[in-house]
Amino acid sequence: MTEHAKERVPRPEEVLDDQAELTPELRSAALRCRAGSSTQAPCPRQATTFLDADSGYPYPLCDEHARVQELVGKSRYWDTAVVVSEDWLRLARAWEHHGLEQMAAWAHEKAKAEFLKAEVRVDLATDIADAPRKGDERPNLTREQDEELRRLMMRSDALTNAYTTIEDIPEGQIREDVRRRMLGVLVGEHELAEEEASRYKEELGFKK
Ligand SMILES: [Zn+2]
Repeated sequence: MTEHAKERVPRPEEVLDDQAELTPELRSAALRCRAGSSTQAPCPRQATTFLDADSGYPYPLCDEHARVQELVGKSRYWDTAVVVSEDWLRLARAWEHHGLEQMAAWAHEKAKAEFLKAEVRVDLATDIADAPRKGDERPNLTREQDEELRRLMMRSDALTNAYTTIEDIPEGQIREDVRRRMLGVLVGEHELAEEEASRYKEELGFKK
């Protein structure tokens, strides 16, 4: 796994030898997070972490954007695992080694599922990190609470989307009894997801 070397961004008072140089302006002037700095809406948070601290081009990021980078690293690892396990599978088939083929197929499916989950985590963390730039920050939530709430809402939305997608498949393209069973399961799962999301919202003190 490629780990980015990280280093904490020092405060001005830690860097200056002569504390007399520390004007009030300097004291308040902490380094800004670099995310989105080339866009119209740069990240407004202060940087807390240097990403790639040992690269010679350290990149200052806030906690939230540093978290995105950490998750991107994990997702790349699973992306590599998908490619590698696919190679194993190809080899096992070429050798007609059925035991190996089964193992490789299992590893490949597992890697694909983990990659998908890792990508979703990156999406969620990106939503949270970019929230103040888009003006939809939830200021009273911790990052963990925000992450959990967005995850629950995403699950509920995804189940609704799955329902309408299956409903829209033209007649004759899937068996009707299969369609009916899938829709039945999805309705139930959606209800549960909605309940869980609204329970969590209440727990966090959102008004109904
Ligand atoms: Zn940031």
